[in-house]
Amino acid sequence: MSKKVMANDVPIWKRLLSESIETLDSLPRPLSAHREKLERVISRYPMRINPYYLGLIEAEGDPLYRQCMPDVRELDDAGAVADPLNEEGHSPVPGLTHRYPDRVLFLVSSECAMYCRFCNRKRKVGRSSMATDASIEQGIGYIRAHEEVRDVLLSGGDPLLLEDARLGEILSAIRAISHVEIIRIGTRVPCALPQRVTPELAMLLQKFHPLYINTHFNHPVEITPEASIACNRLADAGIPLGCQTVLLKGVNDDLTTLMTLTRKLLTIRVKPYYLFHADPARGTSHFRTSLNRGLDIMRGLQGHTSGLCVPHFAIDLLGGGGKVPLLPEYLTGRDGDFLLMTNYAGKSYRHPDGHYD
Ligand SMILES: *Cc1c(COP(=O)(O)O)cnc(C)c1O
Ligand code: SF4
Repeated sequence: MSKKVMANDVPIWKRLLSESIETLDSLPRPLSAHREKLERVISRYPMRINPYYLGLIEAEGDPLYRQCMPDVRELDDAGAVADPLNEEGHSPVPGLTHRYPDRVLFLVSSECAMYCRFCNRKRKVGRSSMATDASIEQGIGYIRAHEEVRDVLLSGGDPLLLEDARLGEILSAIRAISHVEIIRIGTRVPCALPQRVTPELAMLLQKFHPLYINTHFNHPVEITPEASIACNRLADAGIPLGCQTVLLKGVNDDLTTLMTLTRKLLTIRVKPYYLFHADPARGTSHFRTSLNRGLDIMRGLQGHTSGLCVPHFAIDLLGGGGKVPLLPEYLTGRDGDFLLMTNYAGKSYRHPDGHYD
């Protein structure tokens, strides 16, 4: 899309998206090295950095830069797998994963507002085959035929990159299924392209309650005035907001950053929901921390700040076992009928146990 051709009435988010950097030649600063390798990186895993997110980068190599700029280490695939969560193995129809008894993950968009270098679906985001009209039709048919599905989680790609009209059609079709109790949308839009959250979008979404949105912020710098407007607008439309953060080496793998992030999320009415240990997805190994790093951060949050700030720390098991929650150890032993407990500050306590009957 050429900038000249776009009329003035084009919404600002579409203009921002159309001005995204998708080739090495359009980077603001010429590459000094690795050009040929980086071409290979982005031919395998697409690049998209929209001008809004680009504008938040303060310095080369900073936490936002690392999330969106291609890195030669993405070609280093040792030990990693393309589909770590075996989403395709638990997929009765293309684009839908039914892993847990009562809920499904349903991919309805192939596109995102940016392409995150750590994405666990990087094998397929940005490719139009990820979600097609036909796969969406089949997915809705599957949900309709499976009465045990009471929770539908829309993802992608990013569902909020669909046009309002198309999103409305999909949501209406799901809402018309009587056994579906709640609809959830997983989206990085409030973080990566908050201008997409227009008053019209909020008005559309509120027709499909109970509707929940899980956004995806990874760093406090992402919580800008624009992101705040977007989240407040969704919250004002009655949509409970959660956040799924990924623990990423060199981005947010320290207590100060995550403490600041979770507190700031609450100020924009977003409840931290999950903190994920990074998945062993091919092309993302350089982002993975040790499990202990995550547990140490959880120990530093729990009790030291509002319980509302504390997400569930979870690991999504390789091969599709689902999410397993992990907690630092607070129960350190037993003494007869007493539990030996350690509190958040590291002090030990004896607490009476009851009887299991
Ligand atoms: C994460 C996920 C869900 C939702 O899990 P919750 O713990 O309920 O948020 C559902 N299906 C799949 C395949 C998932 O990966
Ligand atoms: S927005 Fe989400 S799905 Fe899209 S590339 Fe980023 S992490 Fe992956």
